[in-house]
Amino acid sequence: MTMTHPFDLAILGAGPSGSSLAITMARHGWRVVLLEKGKMPRDKVCGGFIGPANHELLEELGLHEPMRQAGFPILRNLLLSVPRDRSIEIPLEVPGKTTTAWGVWRREFDELLVKEARKAGVLVLERTTVSRIENGKINRLFCSEGSCAGGVIEAAVVVNASGIDRGQMKGPFHAMGLAAEFENANVPPSQVSVHYAPEGHCGIDPIGQGRVTVGYVADPVLFERGHKDPAEILALFRQQNGCLHRMLEGARQITPWKGTPIYLVRKFRFFQEGMFHVGDAVGNVNPVGGIGLTLAFQSSRLLAGLLKRGAAAELSPEAVARDYERLWRRELLGRLRMSRFLGKLSHKPFVAEVMMNIFQSFPGFLKSAFAQQHAFVYSDPNPRRLVPGPQERHPSL
Ligand SMILES: Cc1cc2nc3c(=O)[nH]c(=O)nc-3n(C[C@H](O)[C@H](O)[C@H](O)COP(=O)(O)OP(=O)(O)OC[C@H]3O[C@@H](n4cnc5c(N)ncnc54)[C@H](O)[C@@H]3O)c2cc1C
Repeated sequence: MTMTHPFDLAILGAGPSGSSLAITMARHGWRVVLLEKGKMPRDKVCGGFIGPANHELLEELGLHEPMRQAGFPILRNLLLSVPRDRSIEIPLEVPGKTTTAWGVWRREFDELLVKEARKAGVLVLERTTVSRIENGKINRLFCSEGSCAGGVIEAAVVVNASGIDRGQMKGPFHAMGLAAEFENANVPPSQVSVHYAPEGHCGIDPIGQGRVTVGYVADPVLFERGHKDPAEILALFRQQNGCLHRMLEGARQITPWKGTPIYLVRKFRFFQEGMFHVGDAVGNVNPVGGIGLTLAFQSSRLLAGLLKRGAAAELSPEAVARDYERLWRRELLGRLRMSRFLGKLSHKPFVAEVMMNIFQSFPGFLKSAFAQQHAFVYSDPNPRRLVPGPQERHPSL
C-alpha cells in the first residue's frame, strides 16, 4: 500500500516528544503521520514529574485543561531526603514566572497526547514498525509490521522520536530504572519527593486520585550482589532511608513493576541519515534531575519553530539541522550534563550528606540550582503565524 498523498512530516514514536511535535505541526497546517510501534495506552518506566519549564508549551498545546480533567495534580513542593532522617523542602518555582509542575501517570498522559494529536488532524498509526527509510527530497518509509504492514509512507520531513537509541544499549548499564504505581502513600498531594540511599535514589510523584508513582534508580552493584527482585530493592532503600519508609508505610502497590536498564549514551544525534532526532533519541538524561520530559518537549518545540521557518525560507534540511543542533546545545546540553553529574554524586552517601548540610544551611543554593535546571527554554522570539500555502504544505526541505 502506498499512501495516496505524501505527508509533510512523518514522526517515529508517539511519546511526549513525538506527539507534541505532531500536534504543533498539524495545527500549523502540515500533514502529519505519527507512527507508533506500540498500542496506546502503553506503559513507560517514568516518575511522571513534568517540570515547570514546560508551563508555556503545555499552554500553547492547550493541554492544561485536559490534564486537569484527567485528574493529574499540580505539584508545588519538592522534598529531598538522605539517610539518617534528614530532609529539606523547597517550593517548585522559577522566580519571576507563573509556572506549574505536574505529576502524571505516563500510561494515561501519553494516551491523552495522542488523542490531542488525532484531534489536531494527525494520522496516528499504532502497532506500526518502520523497517527501512529511503532518503530523498521525498523520503520513503517502508513498514514491515502492524496496521501499515507492507506499506510505504512518503514524507518530506522525517523525525525520529523513538526514545533511547537501542543500538547504544550494549555492555554494562549505568543503572536500572524501575517504576510502579501505589495508593495510600503518606504523601501530601502536591509534593514530589526524592530520597537518597547509598546505592540509588527513589522518587515519589503524586499522579492524582490518591495514587503515586514510585520510581527508583538502582546501582548495578545491587544486582551483582544478587538483589533481583524490585520489591526487595525498594525494601532495602526503605531500611536505609527513614523518610522514604514512612511515606510508603501502609501503601499498596496497584501496578506491577516495570523496569529498564539505563544507558547514558555518549554520542548525541541531531540529524542523521535524513532524519531529525528529538527527545531521548538525541541523548538521555539521568532521571535524578526530573528533566527528561523537559528535554523531550523542548527539543520538539525547538525543532517545530525551526521547521516552520525553514519551510517558509525554503532552507535545506542540513541548514535547519545546523540551527537545531546549535540551539539544542545552547539551551539543553547544560541541563542534561547537570542531571548526569547529580546522578553520579547522589549515589555516593558521603557526598549526599555533605550536600544536605549545604542545602540545610543555605536553602537558597538548592532553590537556585532547581531554578537553573527548570528555567524556561528558548522559545521562538519572533513566531511567524504563517498561513499554510502550497509551498508550506509540501515544504521543500
Ligand atoms: C526510572 C525513570 C524515571 C524517570 N522519571 C522521569 C520524571 O519523573 N520526569 C521526567 O521529566 N523524566 C523522567 N524520566 C525520563 C523520561 O521518561 C524520558 O526522558 C521521556 O519519556 C522521553 O520521551 P520521548 O518522547 O523522547 O521517548 P519515549 O517516551 O521513550 O517515547 C518513545 C516512543 O517511541 C516508540 N517507538 C520506539 N521505537 C519505535 C519505532 N522503531 N517505531 C515507532 N515507534 C517506536 C515507543 O513505543 C514509545 O512510545 C525517567 C526515566 C526513567 C528511566
